[in-house]
Amino acid sequence: MKLQNPSLLKTGALIDGAWVAGNKKFAVHNPATGAELAQVADLGSAETKTAIAAAKAAQGPWAKLTGKQRGQILRCWFESMVQNADDLAAIMTAEQGKPLAEAKGEILYAASFLEWFGEEAKRVYGDIIPETKPGTRILVMKQPVGVVGSITPWNFPSAMITRKCAPALAAGCTVVLKPAKQTPLSALALGELAIQAGVPKGVLNIITSSNSSSIGMELCTNPDVRKIGFTGSTEVGKILMQQAAVGVKKMSLELGGNAPFIVFDDADIDAAVAGAIISKFRNAGQTCVCANRIFVQKKIAAEFNKKLAAAMAQLKVGNGTENGVTIGPLIDQNAVTKVQELVDDARSQGAVIALGGAGHALGGLFYQPTLITGATPKMRLHAEEIFGPVAAVYEFTDEAEAIQLANNTEYGLAAYFYARDLGRVFRVAEALEYGMVAVNEAILSTEVAPFGGIKESGFGREGSFYGIEEYVETKYVLLGLPQQ
Ligand code: ADP
Repeated sequence: MKLQNPSLLKTGALIDGAWVAGNKKFAVHNPATGAELAQVADLGSAETKTAIAAAKAAQGPWAKLTGKQRGQILRCWFESMVQNADDLAAIMTAEQGKPLAEAKGEILYAASFLEWFGEEAKRVYGDIIPETKPGTRILVMKQPVGVVGSITPWNFPSAMITRKCAPALAAGCTVVLKPAKQTPLSALALGELAIQAGVPKGVLNIITSSNSSSIGMELCTNPDVRKIGFTGSTEVGKILMQQAAVGVKKMSLELGGNAPFIVFDDADIDAAVAGAIISKFRNAGQTCVCANRIFVQKKIAAEFNKKLAAAMAQLKVGNGTENGVTIGPLIDQNAVTKVQELVDDARSQGAVIALGGAGHALGGLFYQPTLITGATPKMRLHAEEIFGPVAAVYEFTDEAEAIQLANNTEYGLAAYFYARDLGRVFRVAEALEYGMVAVNEAILSTEVAPFGGIKESGFGREGSFYGIEEYVETKYVLLGLPQQ
């Protein structure tokens, strides 16, 4: 990996403003080639305790700055991310595998949270409520929660970090971040830029580790941590929730999804096909908002499937650094094995594998874009997150059946549907039990809108003016005014 600014390639953890090499290391690999990229500090709960103490010491002075001052630092961090976008994208593609253009898109999306919340830092307003007792005033103030533990996944190695750290820092909180062990280099590069931008020591700490559970346990049970922000699987989210329950910590959880993508017979089919390609195959299908179940109304199913197969044939699998590649490798062998199991299960239960269905000729962690038609709710891929480049198409008869199928899951993150009839658009948008619904559109994410789920997809919202609420406490002050 060639960088214009080699100082971005850090291998130590960041604690109290210093890079910590640690005694043990773990290897980070390129999923496209298998090559080792770096040996990164492998820390444990002792260093996590030190980082939490540093974050606690830094929190008071950080909160005492004005929102405008904190916002200016976040603005500098934003600008340096944009200036270094090519290097940051190269690091991401090397350790995560997504195509370079997608990686660059994520870097700019990640940076947008620093810009947005830097601006919001000035707008953490309180209230004055009309009193009920003469001679008193009722004040409501918003104060930072305190030290925040952030745990982030590998599929968006930068954006999931800024989506948590930007609102936390804007509100006056300090952070101990644990990035995924597959993608620590992107996190550490952001740490270096944060220091350069003027984030004071102790305000952002980054603990790299191959032992997620011991770091998670420390963050969730240390009394000095007041909030946990997590993006990852529902399974791990439930573990963290149990651990954090002991200290009744505030939490935001952005967990798994099982997104329905519904195409009604009045839809613009070409637009729906283009949307399905974007929603399904971004990051090789490894996002929590990827279309997991494509429901198509019977009357148009044959036409939709034919057009989808033709569009899928245009996808190009390969190393994300190569020109024109749209699908990189999966993250690891477990991911490939899981995807193959889901495809085999569908095949054994009567689905038709219209395209792909196996590993790619490139070998390694590359998987063929796969189209499954005739899928049914009995198949495993109806209930489970596929997290791979596999499009499963189901057929339905009417609107009521589509809604019933779509809601038939414990998840509730993102849903998509294509339709023209205005009455139908409102009925379906209201009936879908999801935190986010896209109508005739395939990409929901933007820093100005509230991202988050319901049901077992979690709670809390990231981005938008709602996002900062997750990092402030509401304090009620009743003020008795001494009489003259
Ligand atoms: P994914 O399937 O995206 O890897 P995970 O939920 O396994 O989702 O991982 C998301 C984040 O949670 C990563 O940073 C991972 O290291 C961390 N993690 C995994 N297991 C635990 C655990 N038991 N306690 C705390 N963090 C964990």
